[in-house]
Amino acid sequence: MEFKKLVKCYESLEATTKKLEKRDIVAKFIKECPTELLSTVVTLLEGRIFPAWMETELGVAENIMFKALARVTGLNEHAIKNETKKAGDIGTAAESILKKKKQRTLTAKVLTVENVYKNLEKIPTLTGTGSTGQKISLIAELVSNATPEEGRYLVRLILEVMRIGVGEGIIRNALAVAYEIEPDLIDQAYSIRNDYGEVAQLIRSGGKRALEKVELEVGRPLKPMLAQKVETAQEGLDEMKGKAAFQYKYDGMRVQIHKSGNKILVFTRRLDNITKQFPELVESAKKFIKADKTIVEGEAVGISPHTRKPQPFQKLSQRIKRKYGIEEMQKQIPVEMNLFDIMYLNGKNLLNTPYVERWKKLESILEETRDFHLAENLVTTDAKKADGFYKKSLSLGHEGLMIKNLDAKYMPGSRVKYMYKLKIERETLDLVIIGAIWGEGRRAKWLGSYFLGARDPDTGNFVELGKVATGLTDEDLENLTKLVKPLVESEHIKDVKIKPKLVVEIAFDEIQKSTKYASGYALRFPRVKRIRDDKGPDDADDLERVAKLYEEQKKAKK
Ligand code: AMP
Repeated sequence: MEFKKLVKCYESLEATTKKLEKRDIVAKFIKECPTELLSTVVTLLEGRIFPAWMETELGVAENIMFKALARVTGLNEHAIKNETKKAGDIGTAAESILKKKKQRTLTAKVLTVENVYKNLEKIPTLTGTGSTGQKISLIAELVSNATPEEGRYLVRLILEVMRIGVGEGIIRNALAVAYEIEPDLIDQAYSIRNDYGEVAQLIRSGGKRALEKVELEVGRPLKPMLAQKVETAQEGLDEMKGKAAFQYKYDGMRVQIHKSGNKILVFTRRLDNITKQFPELVESAKKFIKADKTIVEGEAVGISPHTRKPQPFQKLSQRIKRKYGIEEMQKQIPVEMNLFDIMYLNGKNLLNTPYVERWKKLESILEETRDFHLAENLVTTDAKKADGFYKKSLSLGHEGLMIKNLDAKYMPGSRVKYMYKLKIERETLDLVIIGAIWGEGRRAKWLGSYFLGARDPDTGNFVELGKVATGLTDEDLENLTKLVKPLVESEHIKDVKIKPKLVVEIAFDEIQKSTKYASGYALRFPRVKRIRDDKGPDDADDLERVAKLYEEQKKAKK
C-alpha cells in the first residue's frame, strides 16, 4: 500500500474534530485495507508503531529527528528548531521545510507502508556505539523519499505525537461500526490481547465468534480489573448480597506475574515489563509458585529493610525505571508481595471462574513465605468484623480495604461492581501535565506551575482542567522540571507546551463547572500529591471520571 494513501487518511482525520466523522473515516479505511496489512495499518492509525502489550519502543528523541531532517534538507539543526518553534509542531515544520527544498531528489522512491514499517522496525534493534548514526540514516532514508505531506505524518509517527485525535475509543468504535460488533465485546478482547491490530485481524477472519474465543497467553500481560469505591464496609456488603472477601488494601504497585516453567515475567498495571528491576520477585515466583504455567496477580509493597514497615509508594517507584544498580535498590527498598488473584493455571483460563474458586486455586499452588504470600483475607457477612479488620489494616500502615465479590468472574480492564475499595482518603485525580510556566525570582530556573489535562477517552487527546502550583517544595520543582524538560514541545516566552506523558496524582477540594478551561471543569485548590510513575497517559483519569466525581460531589452536598 502506498504510504500516501495512509497519509490521506491521517489528513482527513486531522481536518475534523467530530468524533463520529473520525470513527467513520477509520472504519472505512479499515474495511478497505488488504488483510495482510490490516494489523500494521490499525496500529499505525492508532499512532503507534508497536502494539501496547509489546515492550519494544521506538524511543526516537526530537534531537535525532532534527539531525535526520538536517541531513535530508541540508539546513542546519538550528534552522530546523526555529522552524519547529514557529510552526508549533515538528511535523508541520518538516512539511514546510520539505516544500521549500527546491526539488525532491530525482532518485526518490515511492514510500509504501511496508517499507516505512520495515525501517521503523529496525530502529529499536540498534544499540551501542554507532547506533544513533544508524537510526538517523534509517529515518533520513524515509524522509528523503517523502513528499512534504508524507513528511509531516512520518515525522509525527516516529516521534509518536500524531495530533489526529484518534485514541483507543475511536479505533474500538470504528471496528464496531465496520463489522457490526458490540463495542463491549471488542473491549473485552482488547483487554486480553492489548493489540487492536490483532483484534481487527481476528474480527476479519472469524467475526464475533473469534472475539468470544480470545485466549490468554502466558507472557502477554492483560489489563487488570479495576475497583469502584464505597464509603463503608456495610455498603460493600450490601453491594455483594451480604457476603464478601475483605482484604487489606496495600499501597504499592499492582503486579502481574507470568510463569512458564522456569521463565518468569513481571508486568505493571500499565503492562510494562519490570522483570529485570525485581529479581527477588522472579526468584520467589520460581521457587514458591507450584505450577508449571500460570498468571497470578498481587500488590508488591516497598518495605523498610529494618522495620519491615510499608514505605510510601514514591520510594518503591524509584525501582520501576531503574536500569542500573538494581541490587543496591533491592537492598534499600525490598518488596513484600501480597498475592490476591489468579487468571490462568496450567492450560485453563480462569477468568470466568468465580473468585472464591480462584482464591482456592491460588492458595493451593502457593508455598507462602515471609516476603511472598497471599493478601490478608477475611470472608465475612458481619459488617462489625469487617470494620475491625479495616481499623487493623489502617493501624498497620495500609490504605484501607478491598472488598471482593466471591461469585464474580475476572473482567480485565473493567471497572465493574466485582471489586470495591474502602479508604479514608478523599478521591484524587490522576492527571497529565500538558503545559507549564517558568517560575519567577528565586524559582526562575524551574518550571513553577503546571497545566493539567484529563484524557478524552474517544480521541486520546488531553483537555485542560486547571493549573497547579501548590504542594510543591523546591526539591519537587527541581525534580519535576527535570522530568518535564525532555517533554517540552514548544516554548513561548514563559509558556511551555508539554508532550502529554507525565502523570501526577492531584488532590483538590472540589470540582467546579467552568468555562475557563477546555474540559468545562476546573479544580478548586489543586495540589500535587505525587508523581505517578507507575501510570502512563493511557491510565490517567478521563473526562468521564471527572464528570462522575462532579455528580457524586453534588449529591453529597445535598
Ligand atoms: P485505586 O488505585 O485507589 O483505584 O485502588 C485499587 C488498587 O489497589 C489496585 O489497582 C491495586 O493496585 C491496589 N490493591 C492493594 N491491595 C489490593 C488487594 N488486596 N486487592 C486488589 N487490589 C489491591
